[in-house]
Amino acid sequence: MRIAVLVKEVPATDKVKMDEKTGTMIRSGMESELNPLDMYAVEEAVRIKEKFENVHVVAISMGPPQAVNSLKEAISMGCDDGYLMSDKNFAGSDTLATAYALSAAIQKLGNFDLIFTGERATDGETGQVGPSVATQLGIPVVTYVSKIEKISDEFVRVCRSIEGGKETVEVELPALLSVVKEINEPRIPNLAGKIASKSKKVPLLTANDIEVILDKVGLSGSPTRVVKVFYPKLSRDGKIIKVRDLESAVNELVEFMKQKGVI
Ligand SMILES: Cc1cc2nc3c(=O)[nH]c(=O)nc-3n(C[C@H](O)[C@H](O)[C@H](O)COP(=O)(O)OP(=O)(O)OC[C@H]3O[C@@H](n4cnc5c(N)ncnc54)[C@H](O)[C@@H]3O)c2cc1C
Repeated sequence: MRIAVLVKEVPATDKVKMDEKTGTMIRSGMESELNPLDMYAVEEAVRIKEKFENVHVVAISMGPPQAVNSLKEAISMGCDDGYLMSDKNFAGSDTLATAYALSAAIQKLGNFDLIFTGERATDGETGQVGPSVATQLGIPVVTYVSKIEKISDEFVRVCRSIEGGKETVEVELPALLSVVKEINEPRIPNLAGKIASKSKKVPLLTANDIEVILDKVGLSGSPTRVVKVFYPKLSRDGKIIKVRDLESAVNELVEFMKQKGVI
């Protein structure tokens, strides 16, 4: 069985800064890390490898050259190989173009039975990439997977979190699963894993290598347009109601809320 895990490198901070002119994220000078939610995807793939024979796990990331560090981390957790898709032609890709490029790399590397993604990236937070990759590959996708109940060469049965409960879904392989935090507890890489990842070469995949149509990646391949980026203004516009008697205070409060359009 061959498993691919899609991992994204994200800024290691929740104070993401945006360039208000270009509408893009300011990434320079920012420390980055493996998307914390992708660790659950890596962990689940590695657990399958440890449970069954002949399972090969490959981590794939599209990002700048330093994203090699996230792939090395995935390898130190137990992935067999890592591939970094990095090319100036990919710059400016929105979720559709990112998913197109990732699905081209998956096809090029070939014959995956299972593809894992995290629930969402902590910077972009759209949660679109996994389902979009599956759509472009023409394979089933199950989102919010919280447990793998059964897996064979032909199918996988999973439990997924839905509003107010859980549901069990069975899909034929190949399939893409996006996992949620409840699925496992990601391991901390041990020394052997860290040493293995240091010496492991992470091959670079360019747009040419994965044979993408250049018009379908980068800014030109991205139908999304960022029209405006702004920081919401937080201001206090409150009123102190002096309580003489409860009824008039409540009436005054209701009147004030009506004026503000709250009720
Ligand atoms: C107009 C426009 C221009 C942009 N330009 C750039 C740019 O120049 N550089 C840039 O870095 N971003 C750019 N972005 C952001 C980029 O499109 C998103 O970061 C990317 O598509 C992933 O979306 P997301 O963060 O919402 O991931 P989600 O959909 O929330 O991610 C879900 C899961 O998909 C997988 N995944 C997501 N992204 C990747 C990836 N890159 N590699 C491997 N697995 C992945 C992970 O498993 C992740 O947990 C741009 C966005 C727009 C709209």
